[in-house]
Amino acid sequence: MGIKNLKFKIIKKVNTFFIDTLFPKKCLLCEKEVSWLCEICQIKIEFIDFQICPICEKYNTPLGAPCQKCKKQTALTGLIAASKYRKEDTAILIHNFKYNFIADLGQDLGKILLKSTTIHKLPLPQIIISVPLHPRRLRWRGFNQAEILAKYLSKNITPGLPLPISKDNLIRKKYTPAQMKIKNYHERKENLKDAFTIKNPEEIRNKIIWLIDDVATTGSTLFECAKVLKENGAKKIYALVLARQEFRK
Ligand SMILES: [Zn+2]
Ligand SMILES: [Zn+2]
Repeated sequence: MGIKNLKFKIIKKVNTFFIDTLFPKKCLLCEKEVSWLCEICQIKIEFIDFQICPICEKYNTPLGAPCQKCKKQTALTGLIAASKYRKEDTAILIHNFKYNFIADLGQDLGKILLKSTTIHKLPLPQIIISVPLHPRRLRWRGFNQAEILAKYLSKNITPGLPLPISKDNLIRKKYTPAQMKIKNYHERKENLKDAFTIKNPEEIRNKIIWLIDDVATTGSTLFECAKVLKENGAKKIYALVLARQEFRK
C-alpha cells in the first residue's frame, strides 16, 4: 500500500470515528441506538409477493414481466420491486440512503433486495449491472447508491463465490435534470432518451442480467437502460428495485 493510500485510509478511519461519536447510529425508524435499521423494524418491512406489469401496472405477472398487451413496449424481461414504498419505513430508508449520504445503509437495504430475489425465485444473473449516475452527479454525491446495492448482491447471492459485476460498461452519457423534479410522465421519458450507452457489448452478450436501482417511479430509467442492453445483445434483463413509487400518469 502506498503512503498516499495509507494516509487516505487513516483519515477515513478518523473521520468515521468522529462521525460515529458525534452522531451515534440510531435506527432511522424507531430511534433505538443500534444501527441505521434495527432488527425489529427490519422484520416489519412488507415484502411484495406478487409483481405486476411494469408498463400498465394493471395485471399481476410472474417476475414482473410485461403483460401481453405491453410486451412490445419494453426490453425488460421483468421488474421486481422488493417492497412497497411506504412513508413509515421504506421511503425514509431510501431517502436517507440517497440524499443524506448514509452509504452504510447499503448493507441493510441490500438484504431486502436479496430476500426478494429468493421469494420470487429469480433466475441467477450471469452479470449484475447498476443504473449509472452521470459523472457530474456522482462527484456531487460521492457514491452511486445503486452500485452499493449491486455490490452487496454480488457478494451475498452465493456467499464465497461473488457473481460478476459490470463496472463502467453501461454509461450515462447525457446529464439530465433529476427525474423527481419532472412531474410529467412523457417529459420523464423524453428526458432520458439516448441518455445511456454501452462501452463493451461483449461483456453482456447473451447474458442474463440483473439491473439494479434503488427505486422505480415511472420506470423510464430502467426501460431506457434495458433498451440499450438489449440492443447490445443481452439475453434477459430483470430489473430489481427496493420499491416502486406511485406516480400519476
Ligand atoms: Zn428500529
Ligand atoms: Zn401491461
